[in-house]
Amino acid sequence: MRILLVDDSRTIRNIQKNVLAEIGQTDVVEAADGVEALARIGEQRPDLMLIDWNMPNMDGITLVRKVRETDKALPLIMVTTEAEKSRVLEAVKAGVNNYVVKPFTAETLGEKIKQTLEKAGVPA
Ligand SMILES: [Mg+2]
Repeated sequence: MRILLVDDSRTIRNIQKNVLAEIGQTDVVEAADGVEALARIGEQRPDLMLIDWNMPNMDGITLVRKVRETDKALPLIMVTTEAEKSRVLEAVKAGVNNYVVKPFTAETLGEKIKQTLEKAGVPA
């Protein structure tokens, strides 16, 4: 299973990669913003995406909307410091499957990923 990590922080992407490795997921691709993420998706559709909200060039909410224009099924998890309920609702409305607030623990992120894939019916 291929997972695309989208975050402008290399440190965050490294943390996410470590969490994924702990749950046996090592086919990981990275992007630093929404524009780069769309390019990666164009090369190969991932099976899951973790998406930061605040990024240069194209932010995460715009990316979610762009992805959903053509792909309703791809599991998307927003991972962000934006913790207000209105933000969460906005993201859900845009089409995210799950939401993780930073800072996250490895346990929480791992759980949300498993939850999201189960719900989406994606075999791990
Ligand atoms: Mg950011």
